[in-house]
Amino acid sequence: MKNWKSLYTVKGPKSMMEMTAEELKEAMKETDTVILSFGAIENHGVHLPLGADYFQANTLIRCVHEALLEMGHKTVPGFAVPFGTQTNQFERQGEHLFGNAYLNEKTFIEMTEDLILALHETGFEKFVLCLNHSENHSALNVVAKDLANRFGIKSIVADWVPPHNDFWPTVLKNAEHQGHGGEDETACVMACAPALVHLEQAKPYYAPEDEKPVKMGGLYYYGGSVGVFMPVERYADNSPGYIGDPADATAEEGVVCFRAYAKWIAQAADKYLF
Ligand SMILES: [Zn+2]
Repeated sequence: MKNWKSLYTVKGPKSMMEMTAEELKEAMKETDTVILSFGAIENHGVHLPLGADYFQANTLIRCVHEALLEMGHKTVPGFAVPFGTQTNQFERQGEHLFGNAYLNEKTFIEMTEDLILALHETGFEKFVLCLNHSENHSALNVVAKDLANRFGIKSIVADWVPPHNDFWPTVLKNAEHQGHGGEDETACVMACAPALVHLEQAKPYYAPEDEKPVKMGGLYYYGGSVGVFMPVERYADNSPGYIGDPADATAEEGVVCFRAYAKWIAQAADKYLF
């Protein structure tokens, strides 16, 4: 590696990964709350890096920290976990799973419980658990409930997607639902890792019209009430591995999105943890 200087710089509030043990000890004199987010190493189409969810998680924990600070709550931005569960394969299969380096549900639950228990040993009592890979949702709820029952650990799992379904059309160029790798997610990656985004080949793609509308029949982590864990051909056919119009994304939109997600997560944390 020739260019040693550009690999890493600290921006924004330091995460736990960037603090010394002394700095962490100092920060924990004023708080026992830590913010974590869970991403994945996952194929995000032609335009986004495999670590898209991780890079966003690394930014989101700092934005949530700042949003909570504005409400008068001190916290530690913990870390972004790069490992997540497999996609549900509902709308993506075959070549669009290439590169996915995933954990099975049980391994994810074990890993996350171990991490939280280790942080609990360090003295954290309250955990803000965020999602940057929607498919981690079920396993994360299992973890949070288990740790509450067994160890009295206080946590919330904040799925910020459903409360932003009516927000996105007000800030994005496309009013249609932007799914995995769509305009909003692409904008967020542009806001945190612009050099890794390649919009040139990202053509628009939208899922076919719903022929069998069911009340709240969409995926639960998008605001519906159904878990769908198998390929659904009509959604997967012709799919480029993302949904929406990523080429319209800008880094500015990403900043607006991050702030809105963080504000909502902070409000939920304030309601239940403080
Ligand atoms: Zn993603």
